[in-house]
Amino acid sequence: MTARAGRLVVRCPAKVNLHLEVLGRRPDGYHEVRTLLAAVGVWDTLIMEPGDEGVGLEVRPAGVAPAGEDNLVVRAARQLQRRSGTRLGARLILHKRIPVAGGMGGGSSNAAAALVGLNQLWGLGAGLAELQAMASALGADVPFFLLGGVAWGTGRGDELQALPNLPPWWVVLLPGPVPVSTAEVYASLGAPPLRPAPPSPIYDCVRRGGSLPLESCRNDLEPAVMERFPEVRERLEALAGEHPRLAMLSGSGGTVFALLDDEAGARACAGRCAGRGALVAPLLTREASQLRPLAGEETWKLPMSGSP
Ligand code: ATP
Repeated sequence: MTARAGRLVVRCPAKVNLHLEVLGRRPDGYHEVRTLLAAVGVWDTLIMEPGDEGVGLEVRPAGVAPAGEDNLVVRAARQLQRRSGTRLGARLILHKRIPVAGGMGGGSSNAAAALVGLNQLWGLGAGLAELQAMASALGADVPFFLLGGVAWGTGRGDELQALPNLPPWWVVLLPGPVPVSTAEVYASLGAPPLRPAPPSPIYDCVRRGGSLPLESCRNDLEPAVMERFPEVRERLEALAGEHPRLAMLSGSGGTVFALLDDEAGARACAGRCAGRGALVAPLLTREASQLRPLAGEETWKLPMSGSP
C-alpha cells in the first residue's frame, strides 16, 4: 500500500494505426495481427475523486459513451477493486473529445488512465506488470496506452514492443458520422487461415531508428470497411487527394487520417477539408503520451473540456 491521493486528473491521448496487417484467424477465434501503433494528441480528460463506496461515472457530453458498467473506465475500476480487494470507491468525470467507436482507441485510453489513476488514488501500489495484465484483460488496445509513444503490436495487437519515436509528424483526422464496430469489421473478414508472416520491413526499419517505409504501410481492414461504409471511401479519397505521406483508415475506422510533415502542412490540409470536422494533432513521443496522474496545482492549467 502507498499513500492515498485526493483529486487526480489524467489526460488520455488517442492512437492511430500506421500499419495494420491481418495474418489470419486463430483457433481461439481472435485474428492475429501485426500493427504499428502511434499515440496522437487528441485528448480526453478523466477526473477522479475518492468516494466512500461504489464507483460513479459521469460522461460529458452526456450520452456520447455509456456511463454505467459498460464503460471501460468502470470496468477498469472493477478490475482494480477485484484484484486488490479494496473497498474504496471513486467519483469519476470523463470529458470525451476522442471520437467514439472511431478506431482511435479512446475507450482503451480511458481504461488505461483509470488503471493508472485509481491505482494512485486508492494507494494500491500495483506495479506496471500487474497493470499490464489488467489492461490486457480489458481489451487489446488498452496495454498500448500504458506504454505510449510508438509500438509494434502482435498477437491480438496487445503483445507490444516499444519502438523509438518517429519524426515530429502531424495527422489530420476525419472522423465519420457513423460508429464502426470493431467486432463486426473483423467478423466480416470471415476466417482467413493463419499464414506465416515474413519479417516486416516496417518493424525492422523503425526498430533500428530508420525512416518508416511508408510504401509498406497498409490497413487490411480498409477494403471491408469501405465496402460497408461508402462514405469512409469518400473521406479517404478526399485525404489522399491532398498527397500526404500516408492516407489511411485508423484501426477498424471509421476515422481516416493523413500523415503530414509538420503542423503548418496539417493545418493547411485541415483547412481545405473544412466542413468535414477535421481534427489536427501531433504524433506524440513516449514522454508526451505518458499517462500521468496530475494533482493539486498541476491541474489548474488543464482545460476541463478535454482539449489539449
Ligand atoms: P476499439 O477499436 O477498441 O473497438 P474504438 O477506438 O473504435 O475502439 P472506442 O471509442 O474505444 O472506439 O469505443 C468502442 C465502444 O466502446 C463504443 O461502442 C462505446 O460505446 C464503448 N465504450 C465503452 N467505454 C467507452 C469510453 N470510455 N469511451 C468511448 N467508448 C466507450
